[in-house]
Amino acid sequence: MSLKSILGLWYRGLWGMWDTLFDTPEILPEIKAKSIGKTVEWREIYRYKFWNGKKKILYFWGIHGNEVGTVKLMNRWVNYLFQACPYDSEKVTVYVIPCLNLDGYEEAKKQRDYFHGGRKGKTNARNVDLNRNFPTYNWSKKSKLFVAGKRYEVSGGQKPASEPEISSLIDFIEKKEISRIYTFHSRWETVFSLNADKRVRRYSDLSGYRIFLMGHWHELSPEQKTGHSMIWGKEQERKIIEVELATRWSSEWKKNKLALIDSVSL
Ligand SMILES: [Zn+2]
Repeated sequence: MSLKSILGLWYRGLWGMWDTLFDTPEILPEIKAKSIGKTVEWREIYRYKFWNGKKKILYFWGIHGNEVGTVKLMNRWVNYLFQACPYDSEKVTVYVIPCLNLDGYEEAKKQRDYFHGGRKGKTNARNVDLNRNFPTYNWSKKSKLFVAGKRYEVSGGQKPASEPEISSLIDFIEKKEISRIYTFHSRWETVFSLNADKRVRRYSDLSGYRIFLMGHWHELSPEQKTGHSMIWGKEQERKIIEVELATRWSSEWKKNKLALIDSVSL
């Protein structure tokens, strides 16, 4: 490993420790949640709901449990939505699922692994990468995942949507007829979509995250895309926008706040 990458890991590791101490938003206890299903280890997957408009928008986070900052950002977003009324809020119904992969998330918090890019907790409790478990044309049992620049063999599940986290999510999206979805990861610092270019540009302009171009998507290996949420969204004709934060442990609230507020508008 080069000196530069060692220094990079230390730099990010120290920031991770700092964020664990000082960036710790919790959802206000007075905000009510409902369960949409259970994880493999029987944890309730909660969703929060705001307003009752016609247009349905969903934000779901923590599909990879080790991307802890995405869950923190969500906690801040839920608290914000509870206290504020963004533009067009009377015309929309906003749903937020703070953390889908709760089993992985608990694992990642137990084994924080600050100085290795965070290898623990990315998959669910059956070692399935949930972002490879969607029922798409290219779903595959065997897949690869990428952590801290390395490739590992990973399961895409025994069959499409075999994992309770994914089947609960899909049931929820279909039942509520949700047409626009934001999903969050870290740490590519990008915004991407296969079918919502305008929304990508707006989120990128307001957050400062760069646009992940279609050319980059085509350059990814086929194993990085099997059973992938973005392909599922396109096949289902639901607009789906993927935001990658820059760090693992920070909510990056300041960067995302305006972009999130804008994302509620029609
Ligand atoms: Zn991810």
